[in-house]
Amino acid sequence: MLLRQRGISDEQVLAAIGKVARHLFIAGPHVNRAYEDSALPIGQEQTISQPYTVAFMTQELQARSGTKILEVGTGSGYQAAVLAALGCRVFTIERHLELLTKARQIFDHLGLRVVSKGGDGTIGWSEFAPYDGIIVTAGAPEVPEALKKQLADGGRMVIPVGGKDSQRLVIVQRTGGSYSTREVDGFKFVPLVGKHGWN
Ligand code: SAM
Repeated sequence: MLLRQRGISDEQVLAAIGKVARHLFIAGPHVNRAYEDSALPIGQEQTISQPYTVAFMTQELQARSGTKILEVGTGSGYQAAVLAALGCRVFTIERHLELLTKARQIFDHLGLRVVSKGGDGTIGWSEFAPYDGIIVTAGAPEVPEALKKQLADGGRMVIPVGGKDSQRLVIVQRTGGSYSTREVDGFKFVPLVGKHGWN
């Protein structure tokens, strides 16, 4: 399997990806490319992330059954579905309501319990905080403080940070009141647009 060859070793992540049919999240002319390892257009000038990126971010998040995860950038709903297949309690926010409506239809069709809302995810979702994990699937100019504050003690956030054309993946770990970070280069996401993102 390609993901394994590329270094994804978390068996639970690989199993969850194996359970979610990616073609359901890609409507229109690109559906026949659903099982390629590439990002694809989903409308509203947005993309579904490539499977390797979804696997890598999920592995770095250390998402496990029963953990509470906030996703910023529902997009097609694929990443949220993979987290739900892992057994996570998933909360997800999308700024484009057309995309959110489609994603919700797929969650219902698959019988997945994903709590979602439309809006600006850069401010997080304080009602359900703190989260064991926060995954941001759009590129930010910097790590939003509002999201860091919504991490539980011991929680992790994965977020692409950098310019509008390319980013590094920043992995933030919260321990009590302090935060440590690690970075991995070489990612390319659509921009995170909002109060604590791009204009
Ligand atoms: N996770 C998605 C999937 O599995 O298909 C991929 C998402 S796409 C790369 C990034 C998404 O983030 C887009 O749908 C975009 O509209 C959304 N987005 C950008 N800024 C946002 C914000 N401030 N709040 C919520 N969603 C945002």
